[in-house]
Amino acid sequence: MPAAVSPERPRSGITRLTGCRLVKGNTLVEEDLWLSSVTGRILRSQEVFYEHQAAPDEVIDLGGRIVSPGFIDVQFNGAFGFDFSQAPQDPVSHRKGLKELNKRLIGTGLTSYLPTITSQKPELYHSALPYLGPSGAARDADEGAESLGAHVEGPFLSPTKNGIHSPEVLQSATSFADLETCYGAHNLPNIKKLTAAPEVGNMTSIIPEVVKHNIIFSIGHTEATYEEASAAVASGAKMITHLFNAMKPLHHRNPGVFGILGHPSTHTPFFGVIADGIHLHPTTVKIAYAAHPEGMILVTDAMSLAGLPDGTYNWTNGESIVKKGSNLTLDGTDKIAGGCATLLDCVNNFLNWSNASIPEAVRAVTITPAKMLGLEGVKGSLEADADADLLVLSEEVDAEGKRLLVDQVWKFGRLVHERS
Ligand code: ZN
Repeated sequence: MPAAVSPERPRSGITRLTGCRLVKGNTLVEEDLWLSSVTGRILRSQEVFYEHQAAPDEVIDLGGRIVSPGFIDVQFNGAFGFDFSQAPQDPVSHRKGLKELNKRLIGTGLTSYLPTITSQKPELYHSALPYLGPSGAARDADEGAESLGAHVEGPFLSPTKNGIHSPEVLQSATSFADLETCYGAHNLPNIKKLTAAPEVGNMTSIIPEVVKHNIIFSIGHTEATYEEASAAVASGAKMITHLFNAMKPLHHRNPGVFGILGHPSTHTPFFGVIADGIHLHPTTVKIAYAAHPEGMILVTDAMSLAGLPDGTYNWTNGESIVKKGSNLTLDGTDKIAGGCATLLDCVNNFLNWSNASIPEAVRAVTITPAKMLGLEGVKGSLEADADADLLVLSEEVDAEGKRLLVDQVWKFGRLVHERS
């Protein structure tokens, strides 16, 4: 309940959240949280109070609820009818569409994400990537969810592990120049992450150049053996894209890409897991988590049909996709055509499938993706000086299991969404 402090005093832009349990590390800590809507960051409470003698404009008692960092999705193709892989018709309506999407996304608890483009012809990257770079520079809470840079999933993928990516647009690179030609050299600063098959063309030897351009290399849609995947990691690959999906399964004589999680080292890669209950069996998710808990990142792989009613929809490659509940399949087949769960659904699934605590489950969508993105201390954290992107969560338990609900969403220190 907001409690107004003296109306005469000039506003400090500071809010103190009290009566809350903060997700910090692997525990819930009973502690107040001080936020500034001026800097958009989490404050050091003692400094504010004693050094700057600033008092909060508002003290909000959360009645024992959980405060978590805002959720981050690093594999997110679109939602509510907006598709990041679609060519912009005109700049004005495209920007408007993106803006509307970001405002709707924030209500789902997603405070930042990597807009993900599936394999496309070069022209598409050239027209779409200029809109998908990091969008939070203005630190404006009214902008909604924030892009942390684009994720280009393809087109340098294995033609036999294409999933729903059109085989006609897949490419094989001989040098980094092929990547520059494909995406447009001027668009590279907008790209945060690249998914590619290391065994296709000369990709493994190109990885160091990708890393030099501050782009995270993620192994995916691949026929790589354990040895090929290990070589990619040695060359700088930092992540595995949707582990188990679109790659060789674990074989006892060749453990494939999954095998590199069994080789603990400081370079053990992070890995995405689609915990929507459709892409992977719950036990498979538990096995992956047990292999490398600090590396697991829950992702939705959600596409533009997420948030829309059930039905048959036209897909960009000319085929049709059938949406039935959280099931998306290519029309006439049982081929999975992306996901439409929310990240909160994935967290709740993981909570029920595993023995993980709430902080452990939340890590997989907050601090772990932030670390993978090199944004530790900026995103995905409730430590002082981090961006004040956070969620107020309540817990529910019924016959179907336990569930977290997003009650409030705060972006850059301001309350931007409240569950009705
Ligand atoms: Zn994929």
